[in-house]
Amino acid sequence: MGYLEVICGSMFSGKSEELIRRVKRVIIARKSVAVFKPAIDNRYDKNSVFSHDGRSVEAHVVDHLNPLAIEDILRQEDPDVVAFDEAQFFGPDIVGVIDRLVAAGKRVIVAGLDMDFARRPFGSMPVLMAMADEVTKLKAICAVCGEPATFNQRLINGRPASKKDPVIVIGGKDSYEARCRHCHELEEN
Ligand code: ZN
Repeated sequence: MGYLEVICGSMFSGKSEELIRRVKRVIIARKSVAVFKPAIDNRYDKNSVFSHDGRSVEAHVVDHLNPLAIEDILRQEDPDVVAFDEAQFFGPDIVGVIDRLVAAGKRVIVAGLDMDFARRPFGSMPVLMAMADEVTKLKAICAVCGEPATFNQRLINGRPASKKDPVIVIGGKDSYEARCRHCHELEEN
């Protein structure tokens, strides 16, 4: 029977580590798995889902707006389990792709940011969380006060970003840290 698992949370909350842990258990169980990540996430090695502790699993890096690339690979590999990392960056078509996979009996594991830096639900993640059989929301540690953190603090030249700043800046000079609700800052202008 198909099953949809969503792992969400802020940056530095261990989402990729949890995805890799689950994928490794699939491999130990001698089942096949295909891992996808969007080409937009170019922080690390192109073909691996890397966690911050350096462990990795091979992944297909695909155009985040072209579900046909994903479906081509799935037709070729016909894996038992399908995983998506950084799922917030995939276009809205990802919802239909995942819905069909689950209906076809696949276990699907999705990891992604549930909110952007302005505390807005991110991409298709809220829809996937609603559709999921199981949602795991992980917390990071607030970079300011050390309490559990659920928000992404975006800093541009050391100052809190504004709501009006674009969500995705490739090669931008901004930086991110995890913060709790009390310490999260957003310029309102
Ligand atoms: Zn805090």
